[in-house]
Amino acid sequence: MNPIPVERISQSRLSMIDFNNLGFGNYLSDHMLLANYNDGRWQDPKVVPYGEIPMTPAMLSLHYGQAIFEGMKAFKNKNGELIIFRPQRHYQRLLKSMERMCMPAMSEEYFINSLNAVIKTDEQWVPTSEGSSLYLRPVIFATESRLGVKISDEYKFVILTSPVGPYFAKPVRVKVEEHYVRAAEGGTGFAKCAGNYGGAFYPTQLAKEQGFDQVLWTDACDHKYIDESGAMNVMFVLNGKLVTPKLTSAILDGVTRNSLLTLANKMGIVVEERKVSVAEIKEGFEKGTLTEAFGAGTAAVVSTIAAINISGEECVLPEINGHSIQLRLKKRLEDIRHGYEPDEFEWIYKIPQ
Ligand SMILES: *Cc1c(COP(=O)(O)O)cnc(C)c1O
Repeated sequence: MNPIPVERISQSRLSMIDFNNLGFGNYLSDHMLLANYNDGRWQDPKVVPYGEIPMTPAMLSLHYGQAIFEGMKAFKNKNGELIIFRPQRHYQRLLKSMERMCMPAMSEEYFINSLNAVIKTDEQWVPTSEGSSLYLRPVIFATESRLGVKISDEYKFVILTSPVGPYFAKPVRVKVEEHYVRAAEGGTGFAKCAGNYGGAFYPTQLAKEQGFDQVLWTDACDHKYIDESGAMNVMFVLNGKLVTPKLTSAILDGVTRNSLLTLANKMGIVVEERKVSVAEIKEGFEKGTLTEAFGAGTAAVVSTIAAINISGEECVLPEINGHSIQLRLKKRLEDIRHGYEPDEFEWIYKIPQ
């Protein structure tokens, strides 16, 4: 593959960014990666100043929803090296999302080189303070302009990046959803496609109006088993074991989920991937054997669940402390990312200089 050309911004916005108060997703870095698919192939990508792109209101993704994305992170480790966390696994998931949405595949080399090019161009945007990172948002969408329902013959691949601060997610109160559905088996739940989010907004908004932060989605057939939560997979500590719903086509295969399960195994914690019923969560709460619940995702790594509402009954979980499994797992993951712990699972990809 040819080196990716870089068109630099004339005036950087870097000096306008308060790196001590980044928050999540508030700032976009100076540059973005842009590539087109047309004439039957992914054309050479380029790095350009972040900004508007021309589009027509007839572009197919707006009408028929062919749009997918990824969410991942780059860091500077303790030696100042630029690294990406598990880009190959994100690439594998991107391929699955693309295939499900009938989009033409791109090679791993094309994807990784594109990430490298945009991250290196905005290297100064990679925050170094503890817990912060450069969030990476690859997005692919149909751009052919036509009104008839069809699979697009043209696409755009864009990578946006955003410096993000430590995400001290406050403990959340979730509601087990017993009416609405995010995804059904055989649908698109396992794909990171835009429509999954659009469809989840309304029930999530209703839950927020009722005072909850998030919805715990259940299976589409009879709402008896837990699927996942919002943009995170969900994990429970039941009888001292780490329990999480087994993947189905209705559940997103989270990279964080996989990483935490791997670490838990390594740390001697018993891991169970299986169907998790709402009834057993309720029973675990009543018997006191349910000691933790949390979401797992790239943004926060773990997000503590403080309370789970099941059919109107509020299950308030014990407060977490330094011995909590979720905090031990999170620390281990962050230590590997920053180079304080050996990278024994080969999760760290060093961006070549
Ligand atoms: C992205 C996402 C997750 C978390 O996946 P990670 O790879 O850990 O960030 C979980 N659920 C949904 C629906 C998602 O879109």
